[in-house]
Amino acid sequence: MALDYYGILGVDREATEQEIKKAYRKLARKYHPDVNPSEEAQEKFAEISMAQEVLLDPQKRSIVDRGGDPMEAAGGMGGGAGFGGGLGDIFEAFFGGGAGARQPRSRVQPGNDALLRTTITLEEAFSGTKQDVTVDTAVLCEKCHGTGSQSESKPVTCGTCQGSGQIQETQQSFLGNVMTTRECPTCRGYGEVIQDPCPQCAGDGRVRATRDLTVNIPAGINSGMRIRMADQGEVGHGGGPAGDLYVEVQVEPHPVFVRENNDLHLRLNVPMYDAALGTELAVDNLAGGETIIEVPGGTQPGDTIHLPGEGMPRLRAEGAGDMIAHVQVAVPTALSNDERAALEDLRAGCPDDARVHTEHDEHGDGFFSRMRGKFRR
Ligand SMILES: [Zn+2]
Ligand SMILES: [Zn+2]
Repeated sequence: MALDYYGILGVDREATEQEIKKAYRKLARKYHPDVNPSEEAQEKFAEISMAQEVLLDPQKRSIVDRGGDPMEAAGGMGGGAGFGGGLGDIFEAFFGGGAGARQPRSRVQPGNDALLRTTITLEEAFSGTKQDVTVDTAVLCEKCHGTGSQSESKPVTCGTCQGSGQIQETQQSFLGNVMTTRECPTCRGYGEVIQDPCPQCAGDGRVRATRDLTVNIPAGINSGMRIRMADQGEVGHGGGPAGDLYVEVQVEPHPVFVRENNDLHLRLNVPMYDAALGTELAVDNLAGGETIIEVPGGTQPGDTIHLPGEGMPRLRAEGAGDMIAHVQVAVPTALSNDERAALEDLRAGCPDDARVHTEHDEHGDGFFSRMRGKFRR
């Protein structure tokens, strides 16, 4: 229970600072331990001292005025240390500086956006695709068209909160008795109630339903990108306007190509003879056809071959990235007798000094040139 500080001093709730001090002095003359050494008087004196302290402190007094007890939390008689100015801040936090000032929220609310995830192949990302998706979300109630009422009758003011949408409660807390505000449970904060709720949506104006949509996925889309479908999200409370639907696309990893922005990288196995002599190699591309890669004579392991414009199309723009082939030279492991003989002949004809090569290769993007690049920087 909150102490009646005004009653202790015998002043009314509008008492001024002067009146409070005057009332205190009058009582102090009666109960001061120098005047009255009885135990009863000591208790009384402590009480009036605390009452004066509380009522002369505007923050503590305002707690009293709202039905709280600022000294209860501080340990009652003689307490109060350690609270000081912080109390006001805590108090503000509870009341938001203006209890009851909030308006009830409108019964018709805009709907939330919805998010859906879908996975496509790299081929589909390359060409663009249409995908059928099933959306499970809130749609307008067709029975009441969003009004929430079964009949024509309009919603009435909520009797629990008198239309404010919120109710105030006094609660025991570490501050003593504190009034808190919360959403009215009867009208859920709308301030009005529907008298004859629609049986289909129970007055919500919307129902859950699944529906099928076709999503247009543009060529060049990359993992993590979202396609916005306006007004395909959730219908709001009371039949409020629908939010948007976002479809987030994931692109599956591809067995051949690794995508980096709009470039497509692949490993190209080039037989040793082809690397030495040069050749043309065909690879299956993402459009369903073949891309011819020209391997120049003297191609080294680790060399890259760039094919401009053969990569992923740019999203909603002209042009495309590159295809970049990373050459791996395939050395034969099982030689026929003829092959062995031919290679033996080649070796015999090769000058000795070309075989022992200790200097780093100056071209290519191999390990050593990368390391050198690091040291240079
Ligand atoms: Zn309805
Ligand atoms: Zn209410």
